[in-house]
Amino acid sequence: IVDEGPVESWHKSVCRYCGTGCGVMLGMSKGKKLMRVRGDQEAHNKGVICIKGSTLDKMLANEPQRLKKPMIRKNGTLEEASWEEAMTLMTEKFKGAIAEHGADSVAFYGSGQLLTEESYTANKLFKGGFKTNNVDGNPRYCMASAAVGYTQTFGKDEPPGAYEDIDHAECFFLIGSNAYECHPPLFERMMVRKKVNPNVRMIVVDPRKTKTAEHADLHLPVLPGTDLLLLNAMLYTMMKTDLFDEEFIREHVNFSDGKNKVSFEDFKKFLEDYKPEKVAPELGISARDIRKAAYMFGNAKATMSLWTMGINQRIQGTYLNNTLNSMHLVTGHINRPGATPLSLTGQSNACGGVRDTGSLSHIIPHGRLIAKKEHRNEMEEIWGIPKDSMSPKPGYHALALFQAMVDEKVKCALIMCTNPAQSSPNVEHYKKGMEKTFLVVADVFETETTKLADIVLPAALYIEKQGVYGQTERRYQLIEKLLDPPGEAKSDLQILVDFAERMGYGDFIKAKTPDEVWEEYRKVSSHSKYNFEGITYERLKKERGLQWPCPSTDHPGTVRRYTKGDPFVPEGKEHYFYGKPDGKAVVFLRTYTPSKEKVTDEYPLYLTTGRVISQWHTGTMTMKVDELMSSSGPAQLVMHPEDASRMRLKEGETVKVEARRGNMNAVVKISEHETPGVLFAAFYDPSFLINGVVSDDHDPFSKEPAYKVTAVRVTKA
Ligand code: SF4
Repeated sequence: IVDEGPVESWHKSVCRYCGTGCGVMLGMSKGKKLMRVRGDQEAHNKGVICIKGSTLDKMLANEPQRLKKPMIRKNGTLEEASWEEAMTLMTEKFKGAIAEHGADSVAFYGSGQLLTEESYTANKLFKGGFKTNNVDGNPRYCMASAAVGYTQTFGKDEPPGAYEDIDHAECFFLIGSNAYECHPPLFERMMVRKKVNPNVRMIVVDPRKTKTAEHADLHLPVLPGTDLLLLNAMLYTMMKTDLFDEEFIREHVNFSDGKNKVSFEDFKKFLEDYKPEKVAPELGISARDIRKAAYMFGNAKATMSLWTMGINQRIQGTYLNNTLNSMHLVTGHINRPGATPLSLTGQSNACGGVRDTGSLSHIIPHGRLIAKKEHRNEMEEIWGIPKDSMSPKPGYHALALFQAMVDEKVKCALIMCTNPAQSSPNVEHYKKGMEKTFLVVADVFETETTKLADIVLPAALYIEKQGVYGQTERRYQLIEKLLDPPGEAKSDLQILVDFAERMGYGDFIKAKTPDEVWEEYRKVSSHSKYNFEGITYERLKKERGLQWPCPSTDHPGTVRRYTKGDPFVPEGKEHYFYGKPDGKAVVFLRTYTPSKEKVTDEYPLYLTTGRVISQWHTGTMTMKVDELMSSSGPAQLVMHPEDASRMRLKEGETVKVEARRGNMNAVVKISEHETPGVLFAAFYDPSFLINGVVSDDHDPFSKEPAYKVTAVRVTKA
């Protein structure tokens, strides 16, 4: 970090980017400029931050490129306008659409980067006010499968364990996670754990030889789309070698085939189809390595699984999540220090801001389902609106929403703090829908999505406003306002409150400031087992975040759920999965189905996408930082030397990438980190819109797109 001047005061805050939610210290000058960033030694990340977090000041210094005035599209061109003109036009369009086509002709598409207060307000306005459930957001693209997986297994969303478990685990099982690049402080913590205890082992399941895989004791480079075979084969091995915990299963587990309760014996019979020798050829690894992984997982004193998009962004994403949770349940590797499943999160506030506030099209706050009358009635009572007034029909999930735009069923949409015109799969198709819709987009920089908007609203960024982020391990942390937004930019909450008033819902959206919204929201939580009534702004100003459940202001927060210390576990019980009526978690029998995107003679290569260490999401913020750009360079199509030599391609050469849904040109990079037959592309760079060829097949339960497996062919351009 370059020291650019004297720091007058240091302020605790949180990193803007990923769901690790690292605590940072921000050094401000006398003239209220952000001068320095460093890791917060007292926060959960113990001072460790990655290259992106350490350059937050450079990103925030990009004032010249910020959106500073509202813009309205006139004769095809975005022209500067006043807030009054922009908000009047937006209100007219939304009112007109609702009057003419009904409430379901409008939609809100949010983000795991909005503050919790903002997501909660938008969700309340659209679902409780306008009476449409067309509220979804980008967490649908990254962690919906983990959320549905937890809910089906434990009866409640959000993980049982915490980062602290890393310090106690004896085996790390990383599947579909390149934590070295995507969650570096957590990966470093795992490495420290391995150093402190040389018996600690790490298994990494990834088709690519990532930097994470390089550090593994056992790397399983399974072919894209086949991991469910591996997990079931590991379970088979566990059953055959007494690696299961019979007492834990008897006391705390039910088995289900997805429809009916079945027996433990049925589960064992189901696994007979997944003998390691039988599935190994399809997985592309040896039966010996499958068994080895099962022994390492089952035999360790405490096993911790960590995963992210590699198994969430799959057509069997929910099944994969169920089965991973099952591996912990049948071996009893849960609810103890170091023994837990823990899904990692991509965005700073996807857990707290979107999943917990219920800002997706099928849910309402704190795990309630739109489709359940009693759940709607509870929220109607809490929000003070007439009984049975909310729509019982789940809204459009992300891909269905953009398809509804293509089909002109959704006429007006408000998109905040996200960039679906770059991040959606099969993106060229869905962009056509965005073009047809009256689109209002609030963001901080120009993006591929603002380019399609009819109204662009300049938004405040991060420490230019106040609010709460909820990260991966159920920890709420406060962001305090340290800077004024540039030009006429406003916080997303101010925009939503103004919009609500103009639409005639000023009395319903009565909490109008961050403090007022948080006060309302924490009290809403007291009606559920997501209870964080005890987490006040006052406490968050002093403490380095608090983990819910936290039902009272003298409660210390809960590190591990479903066991002693969790306020909802009955007295005297060691384990109790209170999301289920009998307190027992569910192990599902989940059958593997091959991906529709299997390689063929026509499309002989797999394409998988992801992140690199120095860029984040669609690059709208990180690509503004020179240090990060010089580290990553522009995005390229990365392939193994064997593939390059077979196709007679050289590094830097331009190729045509063709998939079933589209094609594009790409520049080739050659790397030993890739596996022969599997190509990799990062999605941060808008000049290399890889999502143009990525499949929009999706999981039938979570509706999360299967970005990780697309069959392609590559030819010289
Ligand atoms: Fe931590 Fe993620 Fe920020 Fe890096 S990007 S500092 S890992 S929160």
